[in-house]
Parts: sequence; C-alpha cells; structure tokens
Amino acid sequence: MPYPNSQKYFEEAGKFIPGGVNSPARAFKGVGGTPLFMKKAEGAFMYDEDGNELIDYIGSWGPMILGHAFPAVVEAVRNAALGSTSFGTPTVIENRMAELVCSLVPGLDKIRMTNSGTEATMSTIRVARGYTGRDKVIKFEGCYHGHGDAFLIKAGSGALTLGQPSSPGVTAGTAKDTLTADYNSIDSVRKLLEENRDEVAAIILEPVAGNMGCVPPKKGFLEGLRKLCDEHGVLLIFDEVMCGFRVAPGGATERYGVQPDLMAFGKVIGAGMPVGAFGGSDEVMSVVSPNGPVYQAGTLSGNPVAMSAGLALLGELKKNPHIYDDLEAQSAKLENGMLEVFEKHGITVANNRVGSMLGFFFCEGPVESFADVSRTDTKFFSRFFHSMLAEGVYLPPSAFEAWFVSHKHDDAVIQRTIDAADKALASMNK
Ligand code: PLP
Repeated sequence: MPYPNSQKYFEEAGKFIPGGVNSPARAFKGVGGTPLFMKKAEGAFMYDEDGNELIDYIGSWGPMILGHAFPAVVEAVRNAALGSTSFGTPTVIENRMAELVCSLVPGLDKIRMTNSGTEATMSTIRVARGYTGRDKVIKFEGCYHGHGDAFLIKAGSGALTLGQPSSPGVTAGTAKDTLTADYNSIDSVRKLLEENRDEVAAIILEPVAGNMGCVPPKKGFLEGLRKLCDEHGVLLIFDEVMCGFRVAPGGATERYGVQPDLMAFGKVIGAGMPVGAFGGSDEVMSVVSPNGPVYQAGTLSGNPVAMSAGLALLGELKKNPHIYDDLEAQSAKLENGMLEVFEKHGITVANNRVGSMLGFFFCEGPVESFADVSRTDTKFFSRFFHSMLAEGVYLPPSAFEAWFVSHKHDDAVIQRTIDAADKALASMNK
C-alpha cells in the first residue's frame, strides 16, 4: 500500500512541528516508517491523503465508540458552532452534560470539565492532596495518566514506546512524591503504604490498563486497593480517560463494582473533541474552587461545541445499552478469529480483552503486569503492524497500546481484519 503523500506531508511537518507530530504516540517510532496523514474517516474506516481505505483499530485512542463521524455527533457540533464556539460564561449545555455523566457513573455526585485527560488527572491529585493534606501519590508502572510532571515516572503509552517512561524536565522534588507500584500486585502497594505511613494522598490507576496494551485488573485487585485506601486514609482515583463509557456505560467503576473517591475522564467524554473531566463525591469535591480552596480552572472548559458532541455520544450510549452487548460480541469475534489465525501460523501470543479493548502480546501468557508486558516481541509486532497496514488494517503503531473496536466494526469488517491477518502472517513467513 503506497503512501507517497503521507511521506511528503510528514517531511513537511518535521520542519515546523517537533518530530512532525503533535503527540508522540502518533509517530511511528515504535514500529519504524512514517505515519499516515488522515483526511477523513467514517464508521470503522479511515481514509488517508493517498486515498487508501483503512480499517481503524485506534478510534482516536478510544472515543470513537460509535465509529467516526457519527451523524448525531456531527449534527450537534454543527448546531453548537452556529451559536458560537465559546462564551466564557456558564451555559445550559454544561448542566445537561454534568447531569448525564453523573447519572451514568456510580458514585459521581459532582463533576468539573477540563480540556484534556491530562488536566483531569492533574486536578484529581491536586484535589486529593488538598483534601488529605498529604503530598505523595502512588501510581503503577506502565499506566499512563497524561503528561503532567507527577505522572511521567515509569509511565506507559508514548513515553513507554519511545523508551522514555521517566522524562527529563521533571524535577527531583516532584519525582520524590510519586511512588510506583506493580500493577495487579496488592503486596507492592501495601509495602509502599507501610513505608510512607500518613504521607500518601492518593493511589491513581487505570482500572483497566490500556496504555501498556490491555491489562485488566485481576480478581480482587481493585477491591484490595479500596480496602488499603480505607485503612490508610488514602483516596482511590480511577483514571477512566480510556475505559470510561467504553467497558460499560458507567466505565470500570460500574463494571467492577468498586467505588473510587475520585475519577478522571477524557477523550470519550467529548466524542473526540478536546475534553476531560474529573469528579467524585460531594464531600471530596467540596474542596474545589470556587467553593473550596483547591484551585482549578480553564478558559475553554465546558466549551459548548465540545459539550454538544459529548452529550450526543453519551446520550446515544445511555439510550441504547444494547450497544455494549454488540461491542462485546463483535470484539469476541475479532479476538477468537485473530487467535485462530495466530495459531494457524504457529505464532506464540497471549491476549487480554475487556469489552471492546483488546491487547495481543507476542509472548507466553498470562500478561498481568508491566513486567509481563515487557516480554512481548516488539520486533515481531513491528513487522506484523506493517504487514497489516499493507493489507489495509490500521493497528495502534506500538506493541504497548490497546486496540479499540467500535460499534461500526460489523461482521464484514471483523472478517476482513481476520483475513488480512491471515494474509499478513503468510507474507511474513515467506
Ligand atoms: N489517562 C489515560 C488513561 C489516557 O489514556 C490518557 C491519554 O491517552 C490520558 C490520561 C491523557 O489524556 P490527554 O491525552 O487527553 O491529555
């Protein structure tokens, strides 16, 4: 599949944009080659600047649950923009959005909009610190919570793909307040809490990790964290930026039935517009300004165009809960079909799936932690990625990212993907 126009645009981009991309996860650093420049997308398909049609398994890294250019979302954006792209005053649409999100997510009494997932997670830890009067935060190796300083310590996603999980530019003072535990290991958390008694404000995690491939919480892990938090007076923060509204209408909080004290949301909540949000119980959120002393703000937060897009998407998900059954069924078909093809070609593979989030790892399973994820054969993934691209399937360009299935990935699309994998693997064996 040739893409000369994308190559030309990437070269041009490098003159003005660091590395030619506005977010590192988009560069093909983990797989080699140059990224494709997209022109438009519809349903399960993206179309690049060379006119290639690609089945999309990124879904804008999560938000496209109903597929690209979903008509109700497009209509909502158009209508909102006609009324102005921003007011800088309260608007009724913000009320409707807050009301809807609180009705979907268990235990969410109050929510504050932000402009990105990073802002949302940064705000959750500020609130946790303000609420508890403590400084330290526990995170998990391989989890990604955006590019806030406190989180760029053993992080996942692009930071992991580029081999920069801990970034220069984060001061030693900030780094000392971030403690890192092993995902799915309650013992590693208990040890940190005991060593840092009365100093830890919060434990933050992706309740379904999606930034080191897809790694679900083991049975009892979330419950164990909740118990430890209660014993130590620590707030539990679920970063639902990726899994929120995807693994269930009320996200991982609903799916696993464990109640966090604070939650962060992102990309999904704006249907792909730049949005984030954080929230929790009335009591914890009472410290947020202007009611409380913990400052948090944003000129464009609650933007009417973004809120309208999100309201259209989340409204659709609330109205049609069968969407989640469909996503489950289609994703299971993809999972099973891919496993059959890998087996046919004698490929060692381990996999995880939670609803429409999937992770394939080219190593022996099970894959339950960052250490397990690190065993995946990244060289094999790169070859597989490019062979799939040649067959018209766009996988995330990193061995450490989850694959996302949308409601528009119907039987025909899934079968086309499985056939593409069969051909891709056959071509790699030649
Ligand atoms: N948290 C998680 C779980 C994410 O997946 C991401 C982004 O990929 C973020 C936070 C940061 O969100 P944003 O890129 O919108 O700042």
